[in-house]
Amino acid sequence: MATLTTPLSEIYGIGPKFLDRLEKLGIKTAGDLLRHFPFRYDDFSQICKIAELKAGQQATIQGTITDVSSRRSWQRRMFLVEAFISDETGDIRAIWFNQPYLKNVLREGKLVSLAGKVVVSKNKFYLSNPVYEVLNNEDEISQTKHTGRLVPIYPETKGLTSKGIRYLVQPIIRDLEKIPEILPISALQKNNLPEINSAIRWIHFPESPKEAQAAKKRFAFEDLFCLQLSNIRQRLKLNAEKAVPVPTDMEWLKETLRGLPFELTISQKQSLWDILQDLQKPHPMNRLLQGDVGSGKTIVAALAALTAAKENKQSVFMAPTEILANQHYQTFIKFFPGFKKGLAIVTASEAKVFYGDGLEAKIKKSELLKEIASGKIKLIIGTHALIQKNIVFNDLVFVVIDEQHRFGVKQRAKLLKINKLVPHFLSMSATPIPRTLTLTIFGDLNLSTITELPKNRKAIITKIVAPANRDKAYAFIRDQVQKGRQVFVICPRIEIPSLEDQEKAGLSWRNQAFQNLEIKAVKEEYEKLNIKIFPDLEVAMLHGKMKAEEKELIMKQFKNGEIDVLVSTSVVEVGVDVPNAAIMMIEGAERFGLAQLYQFRGRVGRGGHQSFCFLFTDSSAQSTNQRLQSVVEAKNGLELAEKDLEIRGPGEFLGQNQAGIPDLAMKAVQNPDLVKTSRQAALEIIEKDPELNAHPLLKEKLEKFSKDIHLE
Ligand code: ADP
Ligand code: MG
Repeated sequence: MATLTTPLSEIYGIGPKFLDRLEKLGIKTAGDLLRHFPFRYDDFSQICKIAELKAGQQATIQGTITDVSSRRSWQRRMFLVEAFISDETGDIRAIWFNQPYLKNVLREGKLVSLAGKVVVSKNKFYLSNPVYEVLNNEDEISQTKHTGRLVPIYPETKGLTSKGIRYLVQPIIRDLEKIPEILPISALQKNNLPEINSAIRWIHFPESPKEAQAAKKRFAFEDLFCLQLSNIRQRLKLNAEKAVPVPTDMEWLKETLRGLPFELTISQKQSLWDILQDLQKPHPMNRLLQGDVGSGKTIVAALAALTAAKENKQSVFMAPTEILANQHYQTFIKFFPGFKKGLAIVTASEAKVFYGDGLEAKIKKSELLKEIASGKIKLIIGTHALIQKNIVFNDLVFVVIDEQHRFGVKQRAKLLKINKLVPHFLSMSATPIPRTLTLTIFGDLNLSTITELPKNRKAIITKIVAPANRDKAYAFIRDQVQKGRQVFVICPRIEIPSLEDQEKAGLSWRNQAFQNLEIKAVKEEYEKLNIKIFPDLEVAMLHGKMKAEEKELIMKQFKNGEIDVLVSTSVVEVGVDVPNAAIMMIEGAERFGLAQLYQFRGRVGRGGHQSFCFLFTDSSAQSTNQRLQSVVEAKNGLELAEKDLEIRGPGEFLGQNQAGIPDLAMKAVQNPDLVKTSRQAALEIIEKDPELNAHPLLKEKLEKFSKDIHLE
């Protein structure tokens, strides 16, 4: 008898051609196949007597073939197979188009089950292209798989139809050894979920929609449960690790805060407090600091790093681009001009050290590495690429990562390899993560949120611009530029095609064609603005395929005011602080997620000028307008993120390939109740059995799970 781990190649009746195709879907064992779930069902459950059929009805009939013929239709040049089927109440004609082989399958005298729509022609009923299933004997009437029931429809691949998959799945389910349960029985009972064997049967071949529903819920629960269990275990593991505690000198801190040119907002203070508390613990911090663009995350992290430096410990500050690394370096010098413990910036192009009181020196990278290793430099700012290099630290206790959802397990491992002690980790992100996602997918993180913008900020005036008002908007923008302001233009987002479409176009599509399309869009927009609309202004463009140095140069020029209008794709440059940029213009606004639009808007409104955001859209659909209107009215990004999660699903927050998170879980994270109950179950089991010794199967599954999920 087959078990879940039996390779499909050892199962009778699956040919090499099928094995190949299945492997393309990542399906190698019986267990894999059984976990290839249908995404919907065709309802052919209504089995009717032929005499009772009604026009237009979806139905299944079962009877004997009394006659089969085939012919070419001379009108439409199609090949027709025609059969008459009769049961004890009457007979009906069925027609299939362009499936000539059917005349060899549907032989006279055979018992068949047909499902499809009842069509009327010349006052007579017939079935057009019905799904057919030949039955070998009366017993099989109750075991149909393609008709007479809820019929599963699967994600398909070339040459592997749902029908084909049903053929494979049904005998495996029938002949499989009893599957051992991996979920705790108590959790199943408490949440009224079916055990695994029923659930597998029900999800593939449900007797009722209720069964399908219950099975789906169970598997969603299972995924969420594993996800959260994996997070909780990750967190426990981190808590068991040792880190250097960094105390806070409160007097010193108060004085430092008094030295700032502004007062921290309430949530900046709260977040700083969270971080400093974490730093005092002998276990590594793993915290995400989230806050809208411009909410002032940098100063909070800088103050924490300064606290570590006060204790003569090293910190690292990592940014996604050189420009941002530079910005942080400048910010630090501006706010803490008297910092004398060595502040270095190291990027691909340069290395510099600031020694306090205006003293700054360029330095060879090899020299810098030595100074870092000896501990002479306490604060190192650089790009993410920094940690790819083998920097040896002297006493690294604190790592800050800017503009990343969180610090990946892999990156952490890398830093650990270089340095024996586990540093405290803080990541910062302007993309707010909805609460349900922070609970499940990012559950091993502690969270601090900056909820308000610094006072003195003027609200950004946001307008939805219909095509008729385009010229007016351009005139307004020109006027603003003439007053000395600068403009960001975001090009329409190019939708990454579905995996299915990518497959059709060949799999290299993603890298090649996507980037090309995107660059084409930017170039077109750039040329339009540069030549037609604003020939008198300085226009420049930025896109993902430009070399890092080119990008840096353009950003530098924009920051220096040498460029009036900067056209860019949605993917480049986050978090850049250009106070003089007062206009954000977004083309094809309807194509973006709400949270993303909100983020774009946050790039302006940082200086003292009144700022504007224009959402250009050609769509006049009311739903579009409503969505965009919620950006106009939005008070904070988190609200929009929650809305995005509702409308567009979690892909928006996790990237296109969904980082290895199972489909059902992806959908299930939108169900707060299921998130809550699965979390409860995960906590319960960990409390009783932290090592999962009584649940070896679960433990095994989790290990595989953690390997598959690669969130960064
Ligand atoms: P983000 O959270 O997007 O990284 P930044 O840290 O770049 O934001 O801060 C944006 C700007 O706001 C910076 O110029 C910073 O100096 C300023 N800022 C930060 N906190 C305050 C505050 N409490 N009051 C006034 N300005 C502040
Ligand atoms: Mg920032």
